[in-house]
Amino acid sequence: MRIDAKKRILIIEDEPHIAEGLKLNLSLEGYEAEIAGDGGSAIRKWKSWRPDLIVLDIMLPVIDGLSVLRSIRLEDDRLPVLILSAKSNIEDKIKGLSYGVDDYLAKPFHLEEFLLRVGRLLTRASWSSEKRKEEYISASESNQIVIFGSNRVDFETSVAHCKCGEIHLTEQEVKLLKLFISNRGKPLSRSRLLEIGWGYTGETATRTVDNFIVRFRKYFEDDPKNPVYFKSLRSVGYVFDY
Ligand code: CA
Repeated sequence: MRIDAKKRILIIEDEPHIAEGLKLNLSLEGYEAEIAGDGGSAIRKWKSWRPDLIVLDIMLPVIDGLSVLRSIRLEDDRLPVLILSAKSNIEDKIKGLSYGVDDYLAKPFHLEEFLLRVGRLLTRASWSSEKRKEEYISASESNQIVIFGSNRVDFETSVAHCKCGEIHLTEQEVKLLKLFISNRGKPLSRSRLLEIGWGYTGETATRTVDNFIVRFRKYFEDDPKNPVYFKSLRSVGYVFDY
């Protein structure tokens, strides 16, 4: 728990004049605001600074806003996110909402409306965090350790125990394992896995995903050639089940 009462807001926006304008106005309202101009620095800033709310632009260079959001949602499904986007078409809006966006504002917008929505999201978040505190603690504790077959994965320490002994999982292995576990029994495409694990999309380097699966099978399958947990789905990708 932080001692300072000022709420922290991370502005993820690549257009400096918009970002600086929002930062100034949020500061005038009594918030502490920081800017990240691209997806990579946004994720780093989110991890180190732990904001109370994120203002997110969709059109960002290299890693787009929705990919940034998905990386964040893997670890935090409660942080309020307000999308700012020039894309006002309904498809993007639905996509955003399905990725866990809490509110959506199309550019250009009125500053007053922006500030109202920020205030409302923060109020709602603190209200629900009080309400959920107890169940959250027990839920997060029970989700830290996942056991399948003779494997045991501890997400708090990123250590897995399997037939090979003790393995210290890399950050990407942890991300992909969490994705597989939270989508138990559901097919995951290579491009989805690539996007989550590495933050980019496209047809390139899907072999990278395959190499990870080879590694997971070596760690966790009794017979890596006949996988039980990490199964291939022809022309789709992979499915994890236990
Ligand atoms: Ca932009």
